[in-house]
Amino acid sequence: MTTVTMDDRPVTVPDGATVLTAARQLGIAIPTLCHRDGLEPQTACMACVVRIAGWDRLVPACAITCTEGMVIASETDEAVGAARRRAVELLLGDHLGDCDAPCQLADPLGRHIPRMIRHVAAGDIAAAAATLAAGADGGLPAPDEVDTDRPETACRRGRHDAPVAIGELMHYVVRAAQQRGIAPAPRPAPRRRSVCVHMGRLDADEMAVLLAQANPAGRVVASRAEGYTDAEACAEAARCLHCDCRAAATCALREAAETVGATVPRGAGERRRLEIDAEHPAVIHEPGKCIACGLCVQITAARGEPVGMAFVGRGFGVRVRPAMGRSLAEALTVSTDACVDACPTGALAWR
Ligand code: SF4
Ligand code: SF4
Repeated sequence: MTTVTMDDRPVTVPDGATVLTAARQLGIAIPTLCHRDGLEPQTACMACVVRIAGWDRLVPACAITCTEGMVIASETDEAVGAARRRAVELLLGDHLGDCDAPCQLADPLGRHIPRMIRHVAAGDIAAAAATLAAGADGGLPAPDEVDTDRPETACRRGRHDAPVAIGELMHYVVRAAQQRGIAPAPRPAPRRRSVCVHMGRLDADEMAVLLAQANPAGRVVASRAEGYTDAEACAEAARCLHCDCRAAATCALREAAETVGATVPRGAGERRRLEIDAEHPAVIHEPGKCIACGLCVQITAARGEPVGMAFVGRGFGVRVRPAMGRSLAEALTVSTDACVDACPTGALAWR
């Protein structure tokens, strides 16, 4: 066994244990983005740096083995906090995607409008109503109480042809829920996250990438005075571009950013271009959200994928792609679950 001191507290760990293990044993939270138990340390993200007494630079906790008497500073060293913040901000500055959709951010109650729309598209009125009721003290609002101007004005689809008819869809959900006797209980408003990456304005080619995932038709006009039929609501809902990130609730980058107090860098020069690879039957690949942590590269190799994922390029421009220029469907076969589960961002996410 090996005994070290971290943040002035002694801890004894098995021989060969890392500084990260010692921290966990003490209950000291150290953010990690490229670390996964059981895999080789990548030291790609540098979000887990600590100071070790007598060492001349900060080092990643995931890759350093504890030695007897080692004195480590994590929370107690200001430079460590600043270095973690810089490391995470570097990743945020090169991360292309919207954490939350423009409509969601513009909604006065912060409701998850894209999710409501997807429930409409799937014909699940109960789930759509429950999403709409979140944040409204009295449960589902009456049709004439639905405030839709701001979300609809913010809708990204409006930059192409016409915004998704968010108001009409909300009215549809309220009406359909009433007709089916669905009365969702009042729920608290969704938590507004302090860190939210925005894609900003997309050019025509990038908009085409999003449009390829949606109903290309123009805005659906209701055929009757009382509003959309089920089929019309479904067709209109399918126009939504799914701007929100599929990993918004689980993203480790966002979580780490909030933990270390990182903010999203503004106007950081050239940005990545939007790409969405939707060719895999189960997984959506968004390379702009990849932080090149290398976890999927290791996992596909360990699971014996014939193609797998690979690093492409060098230095700051290094990217992770399906190996040998092959498709994602060829790269992820037996390791799909493990890769999606390990991916710290929405770069690899379930469809
Ligand atoms: S396209 Fe969909 S997700 Fe994007 S802003 Fe409009 S309604 Fe929201
Ligand atoms: S796709 Fe995900 S798991 Fe693979 S390198 Fe990028 S961020 Fe890491």
